[in-house]
Amino acid sequence: MYDLNGQDIIVVGGAGYIGSHVCKMIAQQGGRPITFDNLSAGHEHAVQWGPLEKVDLCDRAALDTAFKNWSNATAVVHLASSIEVGIGEKQPAEFYTNNVVGALNLLDAMRVAKLDKLIFSSTCATYGETDKMPIEESDPQLPFSVYGKTKLAIEHMIQSYHKAYGLNYVTLRYFNAAGADESGLIGEEHDPETHLIPIAMQAAAGRRKELTLFGTDYDTPDGTCVRDYIHVNDIARAHICALEKFEAGLSKAEINIGTGDGVSNLDVLKTIGEVTGHVVPYVEGARRDGDLSKLYADKGQAKAVLGFEPIHSSLENIIKTAWNFHNSRWQNLEN
Ligand code: UDP
Repeated sequence: MYDLNGQDIIVVGGAGYIGSHVCKMIAQQGGRPITFDNLSAGHEHAVQWGPLEKVDLCDRAALDTAFKNWSNATAVVHLASSIEVGIGEKQPAEFYTNNVVGALNLLDAMRVAKLDKLIFSSTCATYGETDKMPIEESDPQLPFSVYGKTKLAIEHMIQSYHKAYGLNYVTLRYFNAAGADESGLIGEEHDPETHLIPIAMQAAAGRRKELTLFGTDYDTPDGTCVRDYIHVNDIARAHICALEKFEAGLSKAEINIGTGDGVSNLDVLKTIGEVTGHVVPYVEGARRDGDLSKLYADKGQAKAVLGFEPIHSSLENIIKTAWNFHNSRWQNLEN
C-alpha cells in the first residue's frame, strides 16, 4: 500500500470509532495523524498514533488556530459528526449544527489555511428508500433521515468548494461500519450505544437483558432490515487509497464503500450466535424512525477509481474482531 512518507494528515474525529482506525493505518503507512476532536463522542485513550488537538468545529476561531498549529499538513480526513439515526429524528437542531455548521466551518478554515485535499465520510443514508439494489453512486440521493440529510448537505457544500475554490475531494459513502482492529485496542464504543452489533454483543454476553429488533415487517426476505457491513479496517484502507489517488491527480469523486452483500438483522444475530457460541436474546419491536428497509452497495466505482476492494469484511471476521474488542473492553472496565 501507499507510503505516506512522513506526511501530516489531519483527522477530524480521530478519537472516534472509524477515526481511530484511520489514524492507526495512517501511522502504519508512514504518515502522522493529527487528531482534531472535541472529545464529545470520541475517547482520548483512542488517540494513540499522533497528537491530539482538542478543538470544536463550531468554534471557528479555535479551528483557524488549530490549522495554524499544524501548517505542514497535506490533507484532511473529516469523520466528526452526530451519527445515530434515531436521535437525529428527535434532535435535528443538534444534528444540523454539529454536522452542517461544523463542516462549513471546516471547509472554510481549510480554504483560509490553503489546504486543498479532503476525504469526507458520507453515508449510504444519503440515498433514501429505493428498490434498486445494489445502489450505484449515480442513483438519486433522497435521504429519508435527518442524519442522511445533513450528510447530503455537506456533500453539496464540498462540491461547491471544489467548483469555486479548487478543493480536491473524495467523498466516501460508507455503508455499515463494523468490526474492530485485531489488536483489541480500539473499536466501537458509543455512549449511549445504538448500533446493532455492539448491542447484540452486550445481550449475548448477558450485559443487557435483550436486544429489541426494530421492525420485522419490512419488505425483505425475513422481514428485518438489510444492511451492508464493512470492516472498519477496510474503511480505513479506503482512506489510504484516496490519499494515494490525490497524489496521482484525482480531484473529485463520490464513492460507495461497502461489500456489495446485503445481510439482514436476523442474519447478524444468527452469525453472532455461531461465531461467539452465545445466543443473542431478542424481542421483536416496532420500526425505528428514520430506518430504510435495505441498503447495499455497488462497489464497482471503489475498485475502478480508488483501486479499493474489501479484504477484512466477511461477517464472521467482523463479528470475531468486534467480540474480541468488546471482551477486552469489558475486562478493562471491571479491573
Ligand atoms: N437495530 C435493531 N435494534 C437495535 C439497534 C439497531 O433492530 O437495538 C437495527 C436498526 O433498526 C437497523 C439495523 O439494526 O435496521 C442497523 O442499525 P444500526 O443502528 O446498527 O446502523 P444504521 O443502519 O442505522 O446505520
